[in-house]
Amino acid sequence: MTFQNSREFAQQLDAQDELRAYRNEFIFPKHNGKNVIYFTGNSLGLQPKRTQKYVDDVMNDWANLAVEGHFYAEKPWWDYHERFANPLSKILGAKPSEVSVMNTLTVNLHLLMVSFYKPTTRYKIICEEKAFPSDQYMFQSQVQFHGLDKEDTIVEIKRREGEHNIRLEDIISKIEEVGDELALVLIGGVNYYTGQVFDMKAITEAGHKAGAKVGFDLAHAAGNIKLELHDWNVDFAAWCSYKYMNSGPGNASGIFVHEKFHNDKDLVRFAGWWGHNKERRFKMEPDFDPVHGADGWQISNLPILSLAPYLASVEMFAEVGMENLIAKRDKITSYLEFILHEIDKEVDSTFEIITPTNPTERASQLSVFLHGEGRSLFDYLMKNGVITDWREPNVIRLAPVPLYCSYEDMYEFGQILKKGIVG
Ligand SMILES: *Cc1c(COP(=O)(O)O)cnc(C)c1O
Repeated sequence: MTFQNSREFAQQLDAQDELRAYRNEFIFPKHNGKNVIYFTGNSLGLQPKRTQKYVDDVMNDWANLAVEGHFYAEKPWWDYHERFANPLSKILGAKPSEVSVMNTLTVNLHLLMVSFYKPTTRYKIICEEKAFPSDQYMFQSQVQFHGLDKEDTIVEIKRREGEHNIRLEDIISKIEEVGDELALVLIGGVNYYTGQVFDMKAITEAGHKAGAKVGFDLAHAAGNIKLELHDWNVDFAAWCSYKYMNSGPGNASGIFVHEKFHNDKDLVRFAGWWGHNKERRFKMEPDFDPVHGADGWQISNLPILSLAPYLASVEMFAEVGMENLIAKRDKITSYLEFILHEIDKEVDSTFEIITPTNPTERASQLSVFLHGEGRSLFDYLMKNGVITDWREPNVIRLAPVPLYCSYEDMYEFGQILKKGIVG
């Protein structure tokens, strides 16, 4: 399709958009009485209007039923989390028993490392260069916890000189090179900085061939890209729910543990009563007998008030379907790319897109490297109702989230950007 940089054309794309009704399901912050252009759904998704009711229901059940809400609420609290299994399994490409909800992302990665990182003569960890800082701190502290040296243990896959993205062939050859010393490959499914999507199937295969475990941090992948965790044979994964999944600030997240480990009672885990045999949980027995499946990694009684917005969100995803979401995602991302190129031509190249151009290697995000006075341009955008974010040294990240961003937003953004550059 040939795009045009005009309001009429953008409005036409909106009129044809099958997901357009969903925009109205979200609450936008306002700028001069109009919806902001929201590009940071990769950081904190907008609030769906339907979420309020899910939270109110829990508040009301708590008021009216108190402790009896565990069993007699309309959605009883003791097995509230089980409502996530089906919708989440579709988002993650997993069997319902392979996914569970609990804690938050970095906490879950630590807990999964307990099960899947047991250093022996195989002790090295492969991760991506410039991983999200929390992941770097997580690796460093895990390595310290095991009494190992971080310089020797953590192997980062680097970008080649002058390139913005990591090449798959470099990941695979590093895995082969570390070989017998490799315990774990753990990288992001989508890089938070560049928006690059990694080939998780190929990485998992290579990691397994080397005899290592393979896990993924899906912070920027869950609810954004097509995942087939079960079929790709990924060992474990974790994500957060407040980015593309719109569950609210710092909200509860989830884990994936592949079915092949569900009967492995030797797999060490840090246990708590909520992961104990469901039928016998309230018998208060002395010995831990894990629930079958990923739920067996739960530790504490779950935060129901935190799960309520998350449930609203996964049910919306189930309604929309990942295929529809991805179809719009690709089109609106391409339209944004087109707009950026048009403006760049008009203003004589003051920025460059560092996200891969190949549609199979990117999803909802375009990262734009600003040459020159980037920070003041960023400030200008924010002051003019474009919500984006700034990443050192000179990058703004733009995520035209398909559930609520419009094509007209992209056109409008182009106009504001141009004004910000030419003054
Ligand atoms: C957002 C993000 C996190 C955040 O972790 P929390 O534990 O939820 O604070 C971690 N890792 C990556 C890759 C992220 O993008």
